[in-house]
Amino acid sequence: MSKSKPVLEIIGVDKHFGPQHVLKNCSLNVAQGETVVLIGPSGSGKSTLLRCINLLEPVQGGSIFFRNKDITHASVEPHKLRQDIGMVFQNYELFSHLTAAENIMLAPMTVLGVSRSEAEAQALELLGKVRIPDKADSFPDELSGGQQQRVAIARALAMKPKLMLFDEPTSALDPEMIREVLDVMADLSAEGMTSIVVTHEMGFAKRAANQIVFMENGEIIENATGEKFFGGDVSLRAQRFLDQIL
Ligand code: ADP
Ligand code: MG
Repeated sequence: MSKSKPVLEIIGVDKHFGPQHVLKNCSLNVAQGETVVLIGPSGSGKSTLLRCINLLEPVQGGSIFFRNKDITHASVEPHKLRQDIGMVFQNYELFSHLTAAENIMLAPMTVLGVSRSEAEAQALELLGKVRIPDKADSFPDELSGGQQQRVAIARALAMKPKLMLFDEPTSALDPEMIREVLDVMADLSAEGMTSIVVTHEMGFAKRAANQIVFMENGEIIENATGEKFFGGDVSLRAQRFLDQIL
C-alpha cells in the first residue's frame, strides 16, 4: 500500500436511527500507524462511528474506505472485514468457560484455521505482550477487570488486525486498573498499531494520540494534532467539554 493513502478514509458519512440524525457528514482520515483519540459528550455519536467502521451499523450516506476499498459497498462481507479490524469494548465479554489462553486461541483456530499448537504459542506470546504472562490457564472470573480487559485486547490482536477500535476500554474499570490497560494500549501505539480510541483519559491522549477528534451532536467539530490540542489551540466548544471532564 502506498504510504500516502490512509488506512481508513471516512468521507461525508451520514447515519440515522429513525428520525434521529446521529452522524452528520463525518469525515476523518487515519494514516498507517496513527493513533486517533475520539472524545466528546455522551450521545455525540462516538460509538456509532466505530460501529459503522466495522459494519455493525449501516450508514445512509457517504463512504468509508478501508485499505482503499469502500466497505459500505454491499459486496463487502462484514465478517471478513472484521478479521482485519479488532474491536475492544467497555465490557470485555470474554468466554467465561474458556481460559485466558483459550479465549485468545479461539478465533485464529476457528476462523483462520491455525493449528492448536501454533495458536497456543501465539496466545502465550500475546499474554506476555499485555503483561500477564502467567495467566494463560486462568478463567475470566479468576482475573481482575484490568486483566480481563488485557485478555480481550490480546484476543483481538490474535487476528493480526490492521486497525484496532477501542470503545471506552477503561471506563468500567476501577481506577487502579485503568493505568495497566492504558499502558498496554500505549505500547501498541508506540509499536505502530493503527488505532481509534474513544476515551476520556486525556493522559493517554497526551501520551499516544497523533490526532484528537472532538465530536458533538453527531458532528466532527474539531480535528487537531496532539501538540496543537494540548497547546491550548482548541475551539471554544472543545474547551468547554474539556473543562467538564478534567
Ligand atoms: P456516544 O458513544 O458518543 O455516547 P452513541 O454513538 O452511543 O454516542 O449514540 C449516539 C446517538 O445515537 C444517541 O442519541 C443514541 O441514543 C443513539 N443511538 C445509538 N445507538 C442506537 C440504536 N441502536 N438505536 C437507536 N438509537 C441509537
Ligand atoms: Mg459510546
